[in-house]
Amino acid sequence: MTNAPDELTIHPLGGLGEIGLNCMALRYGDAIVLVDCGLMFPEDYLFGVDVVIPRFDHILEEREKIKAIVLTHGHEDHIGALPWLLPHVDVPVYGSDFTLALVAGKLAERGMEADLRAVAAGDRVEIGPFAFNFFPVCHSIIKGFALGIETPRGCIIHTGDFKIDRNPLDGHATDLEAIRRFSEPGVTLLMSDSTNVEREGFALTEREIKASLREIFDRARGRIIVTLFSSHIQRLQEIFDLAAACGRMVAISGKSLVRNIELARELDYLRIPRGTLVELEEIGELEDDEVVLLVTGSQGEPLASLSRIAMEEHRHVHIKRGDLVIMSSRFIPGNVVAITKVINRLYKLGAEVLYERVQAIHASGHAHREELRIMIETVRPKYFVPLHGEYRHLVKHARLAAECGVASERAIVLEDGQPITFLPQGGIRLEEALPAERTLVDGKGVGDVGQSVLKERQLLAGEGMVIVLLVVDQDTGDITLGPDIVSKGFVFEQRYAHVLEDAKCVVLEEVESVGSANLKRLKERVRGSLRRFFRNVLERDPVVVPLIIAV
Ligand SMILES: [Zn+2]
Repeated sequence: MTNAPDELTIHPLGGLGEIGLNCMALRYGDAIVLVDCGLMFPEDYLFGVDVVIPRFDHILEEREKIKAIVLTHGHEDHIGALPWLLPHVDVPVYGSDFTLALVAGKLAERGMEADLRAVAAGDRVEIGPFAFNFFPVCHSIIKGFALGIETPRGCIIHTGDFKIDRNPLDGHATDLEAIRRFSEPGVTLLMSDSTNVEREGFALTEREIKASLREIFDRARGRIIVTLFSSHIQRLQEIFDLAAACGRMVAISGKSLVRNIELARELDYLRIPRGTLVELEEIGELEDDEVVLLVTGSQGEPLASLSRIAMEEHRHVHIKRGDLVIMSSRFIPGNVVAITKVINRLYKLGAEVLYERVQAIHASGHAHREELRIMIETVRPKYFVPLHGEYRHLVKHARLAAECGVASERAIVLEDGQPITFLPQGGIRLEEALPAERTLVDGKGVGDVGQSVLKERQLLAGEGMVIVLLVVDQDTGDITLGPDIVSKGFVFEQRYAHVLEDAKCVVLEEVESVGSANLKRLKERVRGSLRRFFRNVLERDPVVVPLIIAV
């Protein structure tokens, strides 16, 4: 894609029309800066796919123009795809110290390094024709920024993920005043987080969450087990403080919690009251009302601590009557089945479980409608582009902007891959959309999983597989072995023995009609007619693998 030297183009690679994969390219003349580089965890129908990352090929065609990557905050859907991008672009990565510490850990796991440049609230960094200003925002991870971007075509505000806590705990406020000052001379474009546009009013504040956690801690007589997102350092601080106030000791179970707590302590963003931490192995020596366990697994992840505890597979923690489990996190929709299973198991073992729906023990990190309104009215942009949401969220957020005084034709819903250009004479041009398919990556971490592989995996899981074994004499063309038919995940072989016998006849008919001189052709024919046969007889469409060998 090319634009004139004095045009500004914004090209969303992901995050619009879906939640996750946040990544956007800003281009002016010969310079490109990327904002965020996130991944998405696939829904469970993507067999064997572990993560989904944006498609980078359009960007990589012009990799020499990329000047830097700027990160708003450290959530996976904003930083998770960096290990796939950085091997191809050697540019500095800007973000807060905490965000970059998470990135460094992620890269180190893969033996990678990068030029990480920490910035602080209030900093202004010039990158090519742009200057980036960093404004603190309140979110479910500490040290997140909204970006004030000065460009030759006017100023832009990119909110990142944020909420406006009207009564914030110390050091966790969104700096609306700084955003207002930056916006005063006029902002060309506001791009803002749309996640919770359907929720009225204001999000619960962290202070309210802390108060309800305190009540729960005060009432609890047995052990308290807390699970939450392991990057929610602010909430972790609250748990440590409450534990200390109630005379309880805290033990930690789960790798990501241990790692993030360590990181946050090193940077002095988490202060554990003296004598509050205890080794997991030692909790048996404490009375029940002296224990708090912090565990991973708030999303029902099968290998995380809470699931192992619920399955009675945890080495040190065994649930007993009187235990209280607090799930201080949102249930991500795709994980509800897994989480519910864990909750039921915990009840079966005698625990009581509290979660968002029954108690105010979690607050969303994303602004509700009134907070979104405040952001729009603070910035008073000329143009508005909603970010970070499914399509309906984007539409509703654009309507909200129009309600707040943005001309409705300037509140523009973009989809992934749809660039928008700001012209030197004023006005905009919507560019032709570029393909924004995703790249699917499986556990091996190398290469990507193509659509055809995925389709095959889907078929295998849904319809099973049938293998046809046949050996023919290469001189005479006679069958010397088989046909044998083996099926996996397709039908119970015993019950459908007659169907598989009939299938053998189908194979024999094909050998008779096409002969065995051309094995490739024979394989194709066997595959085709067997699929037709199974579709007709069983209404199933298994993957058919003909193994036909000439000896
Ligand atoms: Zn976030």
